[in-house]
Amino acid sequence: MVLNLIFLGPPGAGKGTVAQAVMSEYTLVQISTGDLVRAEIASGSKLGAELAEVINKGQLVEDNLIGQMFENYLKEKISSPSFNGFILDGFPRTIPQADMLKNILSKLGQKLNAVIYIESSKESVVTRLSSRWTCEKCKKVYNTVSLKPKVEGVCDIDGAKLIQRDDDKPQTIAKRYDVFLEKTLPLINYYENEKILFKYDGNVPPKPSIEEAKKIIKSLVLD
Ligand code: AMP
Repeated sequence: MVLNLIFLGPPGAGKGTVAQAVMSEYTLVQISTGDLVRAEIASGSKLGAELAEVINKGQLVEDNLIGQMFENYLKEKISSPSFNGFILDGFPRTIPQADMLKNILSKLGQKLNAVIYIESSKESVVTRLSSRWTCEKCKKVYNTVSLKPKVEGVCDIDGAKLIQRDDDKPQTIAKRYDVFLEKTLPLINYYENEKILFKYDGNVPPKPSIEEAKKIIKSLVLD
């Protein structure tokens, strides 16, 4: 069964961490538009320099541009013979992007199974993101309070260096949360109307959050 999911929630709700924990169990691919943006920035391109300016202010990248980056990447993943479904982490983030996603999926003959909303307060995401570290190579996410690597500053999986994101500074985090409330929260209603919305309280440590998400996914698979 192909399983296509969206994880929705403010920055720091744990979308990436939960996605990484469930994707191997169901052989899903995680698609993070934030990672696509950061890869473009790392490439040193002119577009990358423009994107860096936008993301370091905590603002959103323009809908059509992010939609195009997403579509190209999704097409590549779907064309793989081992494709078994995806988890979208960070896309869509606005109503126009949700409309774009609908069109893209219908062109590619795919459907969405569920949108999982990980509810998290501003307070808990500010605390969480200021202690977040990411592997510069495999992108695994650690937390210096709740999900420590075995060796400080080093990824457990590949031994690469852990780095802190430029946009994980307290003022930028607060701004990103406000942008979430304004631009992304309306998607809850959007997907509630489509009767595919599930939600749980994400103001908890990673382990119980992962368990909640797994319960929802299991119920979809058994349906
Ligand atoms: P994330 O890693 O998902 O928090 O994304 C980091 C930053 O990349 C965001 O704060 C935005 O500036 C940009 N970005 C990622 N995904 C999107 C999207 N779907 N729409 C607009 N901007 C995005």
